[in-house]
Amino acid sequence: MNYRSDSKYIHGRQASSYHGSLSVPIFQTSTFSFPEGEEGARRFAGETDGYIYSRLGNPTVQALEDRIAAVEGGEKGLAFASGMAAISAVLTALTKTGDHILCTNGIYGCTYGLLQLMEEKYQITSSFCEMRTAEQLRLMIQPNTSCLFIETPINPTMRIIDLEMVVKVAKEQGIPVVVDNTFSSPYLQQPLMLGCDIVVHSATKYLCGHGDVVGGLAVGKEEFMKNLAATVQKDIGGIMAPFDAWLLLRGMKTLPVRMERHSENAEKIMKKLKEHPAVNAVYYPGDENHPERKIIQKQMKSGGGVISFSIKGDIRAVMGFINQLKLIRIAVSLGDAETLIQHPATMTHSLIPKLERDKMGIDESLIRLSIGLENWEDIWEDLLQALHILDA
Ligand SMILES: *Cc1c(COP(=O)(O)O)cnc(C)c1O
Repeated sequence: MNYRSDSKYIHGRQASSYHGSLSVPIFQTSTFSFPEGEEGARRFAGETDGYIYSRLGNPTVQALEDRIAAVEGGEKGLAFASGMAAISAVLTALTKTGDHILCTNGIYGCTYGLLQLMEEKYQITSSFCEMRTAEQLRLMIQPNTSCLFIETPINPTMRIIDLEMVVKVAKEQGIPVVVDNTFSSPYLQQPLMLGCDIVVHSATKYLCGHGDVVGGLAVGKEEFMKNLAATVQKDIGGIMAPFDAWLLLRGMKTLPVRMERHSENAEKIMKKLKEHPAVNAVYYPGDENHPERKIIQKQMKSGGGVISFSIKGDIRAVMGFINQLKLIRIAVSLGDAETLIQHPATMTHSLIPKLERDKMGIDESLIRLSIGLENWEDIWEDLLQALHILDA
């Protein structure tokens, strides 16, 4: 079955294997009984397939793992308790004491925290690189660099990294490339198809789409992922619950239509924001004046649902503005049906030291907006009435 890409979000394993059930059943069980002792022994020895215990595998969770692998165009997917559980499992699997991780200049706040923890406890160092050119990237790679960790678009500045360029340099040196694809979702960007090695997701965001699950996913080559499942995932144990997997299977069915609407709404709001006198700058991958426009056209289907912008004013003006919003909710997270707004410097990126934050381009006037699925005019009217207080 080689369906077109949007159909793959809906159709996975044959329903006939579950008595024709249209939705994948929730196998709410911790363990699986063996028909006889010898079969238990064979399953533990890996001689036969079959479930043993839900930390090692569960049919509902596996259906989701198969689904994400299909839509990312990868060999094997794995599900985790959160995006951070997926990221920490992948980075643990790829590194040992004394190694180095090279990241984009701007990563998710807790990923930054994880890298600090890895350095303090295991002497695994990390550094940050703008990755504008191949030369710049080559200069930053060290003899002990064991992986590249990429976010694109970068949260919350919306700068874009050229994945083809990164893959080319990484392949020269045999270094695996990990991409956090949370912001784009596989519908807008498929890093594995461009030669990257592993994709990680906070499934909490667009893949879920309804703000009711915290979950993580990772996709990569069969051998690497199998090994990860049998070691880090099994023994550290940050697995996904069957019910959460079921909610994610449900959410992902509508990802293509949701992403189209998020992008359409965001493009309209971006244009309005750019025209408003109280707005200093707008950062959005769907902007035709975006500095990395050419790369965006090459690797993304559209601009997605996240816009960052800065307003003319200090932190008190920012707080005054967001407090004035009615429809738009003040909350971190993104990718939900509801439009959400947050202030990176005091919220998602507050744990990153100010000096580092400044280097990443996150100043106190920057605001991140996750455009929802509402009618775009209602979103704009809300922003407009709140922007008025800045004129006063
Ligand atoms: C939210 C997020 C994460 C962390 O995911 P959780 O599901 O909250 O653990 C990682 N990366 C990015 C880009 C995110 O937005």
